[in-house]
Amino acid sequence: MAETTTRRQPATEFAGLLGQLPADTADREAITVEMPYTGDELGTVPAHTAADVRAATDRAADAQESWADRSFDERAAVIKRYHDLVLDDQAELLDLVQRESGKSRRAAYEEVLDIAITSRYYAYHGDEHIESRRRAGAIPFLTKTVEHHHPKGVVGIISPWNYPLTLSVSDAIPALLAGNTVVLKPATETPFTALRAVSLLREAGLPEEVLQVVTGRGSTIGTPLIENSDYLMFTGSTETGKAVAEQAGHHLIDCSMELGGKNPLLVFDDADLDRTVEGAVRGAFTNAGQLCISLERFYVQSGIREEFERRFVDAVEDLKLGTSLDYEPDVGSLASAEQLEKVQSHVEDARERGARVLTGGQARPDVGPYFYEPTVLADVTDEMSVASEETFGPVVSIHEFEGPREGIALANDSERGLNASVWTENSELGHAVAERIECGTVNINEGYVATWASVDAPMGGMKESGLGRRHGREGIMKYTDSQTVAEQRLAPIAAPSGVPDDLYTTGMTAALRALKRMPGFR
Ligand code: NAD
Repeated sequence: MAETTTRRQPATEFAGLLGQLPADTADREAITVEMPYTGDELGTVPAHTAADVRAATDRAADAQESWADRSFDERAAVIKRYHDLVLDDQAELLDLVQRESGKSRRAAYEEVLDIAITSRYYAYHGDEHIESRRRAGAIPFLTKTVEHHHPKGVVGIISPWNYPLTLSVSDAIPALLAGNTVVLKPATETPFTALRAVSLLREAGLPEEVLQVVTGRGSTIGTPLIENSDYLMFTGSTETGKAVAEQAGHHLIDCSMELGGKNPLLVFDDADLDRTVEGAVRGAFTNAGQLCISLERFYVQSGIREEFERRFVDAVEDLKLGTSLDYEPDVGSLASAEQLEKVQSHVEDARERGARVLTGGQARPDVGPYFYEPTVLADVTDEMSVASEETFGPVVSIHEFEGPREGIALANDSERGLNASVWTENSELGHAVAERIECGTVNINEGYVATWASVDAPMGGMKESGLGRRHGREGIMKYTDSQTVAEQRLAPIAAPSGVPDDLYTTGMTAALRALKRMPGFR
């Protein structure tokens, strides 16, 4: 077992990062941030008040016009520099992400990767999506119609603790490039990672007021942030998301809700089992299963169920738990006592109701206070909480199916619809099945990375997994208000003066019939 290399840090360690917060708020009540690897204190941040949030959104509103007045290329230059700084600074960033969230270094590296991919994509392609463009006019040649996209104004971002680096800033990048200013409320458990990410953005040239961070509890500062934003980007649980969307609706602001999943994996008889087992292990146990697109429900076709189960369990038993700040451990800690409690309660409930534990099923306080073994369950039935509720931990259940129709029905038997994974050597079958699965992303012969990292394409949830999309065109357009400007030339779209209405409508009707027959004008 790798040795713990985390240590209690002097209180001054994060003085520079706390300097990123709004001035004169240092004397607020202190919130302790914990290191999940050991349960020790990492540092403290101020619990900002509603008035602090309003002050931040006011400053962001004042700064927005001059930020939007810069050209897209000027804004993109900041993001391109940020891309390089994150890659250059990755060792220190990875240490911080690991210490604050308890995750393995490999899971932490996914965050660096995501920031680089997102920054590059939107810095080089964002303007293609939001630049003004000609649209077909009401009457060919007579109506000149142009579509513009204007920034919404101040975007509020509320983010969770599970991917504290990327989920704090990756959604801010398209918002900033579209000319908005941002006020970010990171998860109460992981503010230092967000502050470090923001300090790098400032180093890259982002003016201070253009992206500000407020720290504190969602129950206190969530509402004022929603009330004072022009758009809300929320990532978190479905339960909190519903309350947040209700408030956004009350204030008639648009919002994007990236919420929880209960994600299925389907393995067909013809799957390449070496690849499938490797991908299934990664898809289920990356970040100890604390990943919104992590796979928790496995459905395996009857012909290979036994062999898959045996090989999968063997691979899971080979996973190494550990707390070192290097790539040695495969699986890190759960993020908190609350997470450990939820995972334990799901497994205990399943056990008591007759599920079999094929491997795992125990907490591992010998490794760290919140560690839990990667766990595989069989004989899981509908009344068990693990069957339908998101565990958000290292627990999967294996079920069997006979044919594609049954596999699809089982995959869709959930209120959630975030991500799915399909394994087969038959590409045609894979795509046909994928299209029938009610999830915003479906990966064929991969767990989650293929869709997530395809940042040119939209990503988000169906059903109770969310509203709106990140990535691609949708991921930047949502931060804009569209505006249509149409100039009518020469003649009005009405009877010209002196022309009787019956003559005008007869002529117009003939023109409409002709336009339908002309492919270029349909
Ligand atoms: P959470 O809903 O408890 O918290 C998310 C954020 O909301 C935090 O910043 C929290 O402080 C804030 N918050 C809490 N109460 C609030 C309130 N009343 N008003 C406004 N804000 C409030 O979620 P979590 O436990 O931090 O994250 C885990 C959940 O997030 C899981 O369900 C996971 O699936 C989901 N998630 C989804 C995605 C996605 O892209 N779909 C990504 C990561 C995590």
